[in-house]
Amino acid sequence: MKINGIGASNGIAVGKVLLLKEAKIKISDNKIAEKDIASEIKRFDKAILETKNDLNELIVKTQKKLGSEHAEIFEAHLSILKDPELSNQIKDLITNEKFNVVKAVDVTCNNFYQLFSALEDEYLRERAADILDIKTKIINQLLGIKDNALSDIKQEVVIVANDLTPSQTSQLDPKFVKGFLCNIGGRTSHSAIMARSLGIPAVVGLKDITTKVKDKTNIALNGNSGEVEFDLADEKVTVWKEQEKKWINLKTELLSFKGKKTITKDGYEFKLEANVGSVRDLDSALENDAHGIGLFRTEFLYMENDNFPTETEQFTEYKTVLKTMSKFKVVIRTLDIGGDKKLTYWDLPHEMNPFLGYRAIRLCLDQKDVFKTQIRALLQASTSGNLAIMFPMVATVEEFKEAKDFVLKCKAELIKEGKKVSDNILIGMMIEVPASAVNAEIFAKYADFFSIGTNDLIQYTLAADRMSEKVSYLYQPYHPAVLRLIKMTIDGAKAHAKKIPVGMCGEMAGDKIAIPLLVGMGLDEFSMSASDILAARKLINSLNKKDMELLVAEALKCDSHDEVKALVTKKLGNLLD
Ligand code: PEP
Ligand code: MG
Repeated sequence: MKINGIGASNGIAVGKVLLLKEAKIKISDNKIAEKDIASEIKRFDKAILETKNDLNELIVKTQKKLGSEHAEIFEAHLSILKDPELSNQIKDLITNEKFNVVKAVDVTCNNFYQLFSALEDEYLRERAADILDIKTKIINQLLGIKDNALSDIKQEVVIVANDLTPSQTSQLDPKFVKGFLCNIGGRTSHSAIMARSLGIPAVVGLKDITTKVKDKTNIALNGNSGEVEFDLADEKVTVWKEQEKKWINLKTELLSFKGKKTITKDGYEFKLEANVGSVRDLDSALENDAHGIGLFRTEFLYMENDNFPTETEQFTEYKTVLKTMSKFKVVIRTLDIGGDKKLTYWDLPHEMNPFLGYRAIRLCLDQKDVFKTQIRALLQASTSGNLAIMFPMVATVEEFKEAKDFVLKCKAELIKEGKKVSDNILIGMMIEVPASAVNAEIFAKYADFFSIGTNDLIQYTLAADRMSEKVSYLYQPYHPAVLRLIKMTIDGAKAHAKKIPVGMCGEMAGDKIAIPLLVGMGLDEFSMSASDILAARKLINSLNKKDMELLVAEALKCDSHDEVKALVTKKLGNLLD
């Protein structure tokens, strides 16, 4: 039997089910007598104190096992416990409604849970799980119930549960827990984040997996695709075991690339960076050894809110990114809204061709008040790290100059206000419009760097909407025309005396067929999903740049996308595995 859920932590696992049954706690509705109020409140205070002690212990253990960023989850639990709002509401129910203490904790935490679950923001919504985690801890203390001791698992298993709390996940030992599957949860739930750090494959959001599988039966999961297969016959187990073995070997091999340089066999070094959408993605960037952020998509900050994020809100986010990555360059892209990215609170005109319309830098240059808030936030955050500002969708030199001048004007204003702004901010542009690729040498006079946005460049080159299923066959990354435009961009940047650096932050930068060609063309920086970085390093370190230059020359003689793909696959063979 096969079902699909949300792939929450990469990897393949096959093993025997360990079905976690949630202890059914019967919560009594019995009211207490007036004379028992004081002793019930005392019981509550004692349980809170003991829960705090347990949490402090868990913080120390987690810091050692998973690092301090994961321990922060339990620090957050601690601060929820310390929140007078929670305690007051519980005590209020005991004193005024005569609820017994367990019932009062249950009702209050459930109310908080409802409140969080109804929030629109996915990240905050998933914090509702933290409230339930805390509730279980307090009630277990009150009733003297021992937590499911997952740290005691000493046999290889795949855990199947309704949900795993962060406290439970932090106890898992990857030596024995080969994977886990949950009815609920999403990719950004803390359990999923921890699973990724522990390297335990996981699939969540499976709805009713706990009712479908039986304890100790064979089960397999693919944490990339979200696929789960259960009730496996022996021959199926063998097939999955082979896949699991391949994955484990690859993972071990990829881990050995952590801390290494990205350098071809003939000594040419390249920089691999991560694309991120929020500060929440930084853990993964660092874990996967990104040497910087090549693209921070700021539009998510706008899309997650139901109003324009303020200067202070933006400043806080940018400062965190810059501080966390302070050893490296962080390229922050200014607001790229329009096309497929809409804001509910920004009423923009309806257009026949939104991807060719009023979007990205065009919109920001037209609505300078919105642009100004972002630029001021960026400039003030600049002293916290190594900032590079990048404009999206630039098509003309006038646009670039106007945007750059605007940044300089905002800088002068801030300095006049007595604010500090770094003097070393690079100002660059994305190359995603074919006109800019063709004119790269001209743009290089003004820009400090380029970053090629192939996601858009491909759609504009082939006139094939990247959102349209019907013309998806025309969305061809290796089309010789696309390759030529990329090469023109790199050559243009290097033809100018400044020889400005060229990066790529479109999906092509992490694509195994494209990477050898990009190495041959002399791209300097590759920015991709953090999870692709080590595989890209492995590939680049197995290449010879001079050979890749010859491969580029051959590819440019090909007639079509398919011919280029066949050529690269044939030349590189199993290096692409
Ligand atoms: C691109 O177009 O390649 C790019 C990175 O930008 P986005 O995908 O956000 O449009
Ligand atoms: Mg783009």
